[in-house]
Order: sequence, then structure tokens, then C-alpha cells
Amino acid sequence: AALLSPRMALVRPSPTLAVTDNAKALKAKGLDVIVLAQGEPDMDTPANICDAAVTAIRAGQTRYTPVNGTVELKKAIVAKFLRDHAMTINPNDVIIGTGGKQVLFNALVATLGEGDEVLIPAPCWVSYPDMAILAGGKAVTVACGAETNFKITPAQLQKAITPRTRWLILNSPSNPTGSVYTEQELRLLGDVLKNHPNVLVMVDDMYEKLLFDGTTFCTLAQAAPAIADRILTVNGVSKAYCMTGWRIGYGHGPSWLIEAMSTIQSQSTSNPSSISQAAAVEALNGPQDFIAKHNVIFQRRRDMVVRMLNECPGITCLKPQGAFYVYPSCAGTLGKTTPKGKKINNDFDFATALLDEKLVAVVPGEAFGLAPYFRISYATSDAILEEACKRIHAFCASLT
Ligand code: PLP
Repeated sequence: AALLSPRMALVRPSPTLAVTDNAKALKAKGLDVIVLAQGEPDMDTPANICDAAVTAIRAGQTRYTPVNGTVELKKAIVAKFLRDHAMTINPNDVIIGTGGKQVLFNALVATLGEGDEVLIPAPCWVSYPDMAILAGGKAVTVACGAETNFKITPAQLQKAITPRTRWLILNSPSNPTGSVYTEQELRLLGDVLKNHPNVLVMVDDMYEKLLFDGTTFCTLAQAAPAIADRILTVNGVSKAYCMTGWRIGYGHGPSWLIEAMSTIQSQSTSNPSSISQAAAVEALNGPQDFIAKHNVIFQRRRDMVVRMLNECPGITCLKPQGAFYVYPSCAGTLGKTTPKGKKINNDFDFATALLDEKLVAVVPGEAFGLAPYFRISYATSDAILEEACKRIHAFCASLT
């Protein structure tokens, strides 16, 4: 450990993966564990997309591509921005990376100086704060409670901005809450940002296509065109196209930023997989009808999970409009004791005892920056979800 960089003391391994590892260890002992921690759809990549990858291999598309992506995929992304956001973008202002994760990381590494602040509304995706720290910056979380559906308000944003603020990160639909910002909400946040010309905005649209109840999606660059030259819009094929393992994400932003991010990428990973890029072209250009079918499935599961969780003593759960997560509060269970005699003082204790005593793995809210909550991913079968909710109910009912 003496040989590690001092930076390692500042970052945590992904808590979502830690939960999965604990659950796997119990499974390996032969226990019937249900894991609700997964951040990926349970559906397979559509066949036409897989076929495009096979065709690419056979056609010899197996060599290095341009560092920040192929011409064909950039073209498909340009068409996607026009189709979905009515935005005409320049293919030179697009970067394709090894997952949205690499695109976000490139951007932070390319822009953060020592002590520069990254504003992150919390609850937030676990990687944002640690990525900001790894890139030499400072993560500043802003607690956004259930009263605003876990969304940052213009007043909160105004108050949080300092002369050191370099970035604001917005994620809608949100991991872990599923909350979706409306066009009006984005416009008002844009109005605040207009007065702060040194603040960049990282817009993480990864869950854009996963929407329920007829909710429509709007991206910040569309809602607030006046600040579009300071927005990095990040998206990818992992979630909507069930392609988490293919590792393709992309970003659109001002030329100077995309250029710097490409330089970082050229000295780290170079181009993302040539084969995965060919598959992503088919994902973006091919039929999109399966997305709506998947959303019907996700919406049904969400409805069941929200209903069953709200029937659990001590749990309250909002009904979110997007992604495949719910973020219930376990405030009503705090101070109670489990049948095995464990006192529940916080959401970490709740999640630990739930796994230990009822074999259901959820991610404690402290990992996402707002307690006492926990995250459930409903990207798993209806039958498993129903059984999990029954166990959570039995667990909550057993507390004294
Ligand atoms: N952003 C959010 C909010 C996510 O939840 C994820 C994946 O879990 C990502 C970005 C990164 O996805 P990928 O790197 O697979 O494109």
C-alpha cells in the first residue's frame, strides 16, 4: 500500500459493485440471494445490432479507428441530435469514447485544476464525485430532497455557485432516483447559468429513452440555447439499446473542449472498439420500436415495486418517471431492531441487515449522497421483483 499514489486515499471503489460482491459471496455459499443492485437492462442486445457487429468483423473493421470515433458513427450521432433534439450539430464537435463513463472522465481531466469545484446535485450517480476528485478537482454535492423530487432548484443552484465552480453536472432521468427534469425546469436553471459564464455544464442523458407515463424528454442544450456553447451533452447506447458490455458512449460540446478531451483519450485508451462502434451505428440508425416495448415492461415493474414498497411499514417511495430505479426512504425504520438483534441507525445498517436476514441486496443511499434512502434497480424479472418486495415487507414488519 505504501507504493500507491496519495490520490488513492481520496477515491472509493464503486459501492454498487461492493454490494454485488457481498451478494455474490452469499450466493456462492448456496443462499437464495436476490440482487437489486444492477445498473443494466436485463434484456439482450437486439439481434440487428449484434448482426451489424458480426458483419463489421467479417468486413475487416478490426483495426484502429480515428481516436475520437468513426465518421459513420459521428454521422449517426449528428442525425440523432437532429431527430431527437432538433439540434444541428457539427460532427467535429462529437467525441466517441469507451462508454459514457470515459467521455465524462475525459472532460473532467481536461478541465479541472487543483481545487476547482464540481457541483453535483445529490442523490447522484456514485461515479461523479470520485471522478471529479481523481481529476484533481473538488466535488461539492448539493442535497436535493424528496420535496423537489430530488431535483436541484434555481435558488439552490444560485446559492451553490462560487468563483471556483467549473462544472455543474445534471443527470435526467436520474440514477439513482429516476427523476426527470421538465423543459421549464431546465430553462430556469439555464437562466441562472446565463449569469455565470465560467461555469460549464455536464449533461448526462444516459437514460433519455427510458421514460414512463407519456413523459417527454428535453436536453439542456435545447431548453437553454443561450448557454449551449458551455454544455457537454453526454449520452450512449448502454441503457436504451441494452449494450452495457459494448462500451460505447459519446459527447457533444464546444470544439475547444472536444479537442482537449480527444487529446486525453489519444494518450489513454485511443479509439473505442471498432466493432462496437459499427454496432452502435446500427443501434442509432436502425429500428427503435423495441425501446417502447421495453418501457412498457419497465413501467409495469415500477408500478408494482412502488406499490409494494409503500405497503412496507416504515418505507415511503416516490413514483419516478424515468430510468429503472426507485429511491425509497427508510426513515421510518430507523431506531428499530431486527429479529437478529441489529439496531438500524442508518440506511447502511438497513441494507446490511436486509441482505443478512432476508437475502435481498439493495444499495444504501449514503453511497448516492442523500440518506436515509436506498436504491432498488427494477431491471430484473417481475417474479423476482415481487419476491424481493415480499421479503422487504416481511423484513420491515419484523422490526421492533
Ligand atoms: N451515467 C449514468 C447516470 C449511469 O448510470 C451510467 C452507468 O451506470 C453511465 C453514465 C455510464 O454508462 P456507460 O459507461 O456504460 O456508457
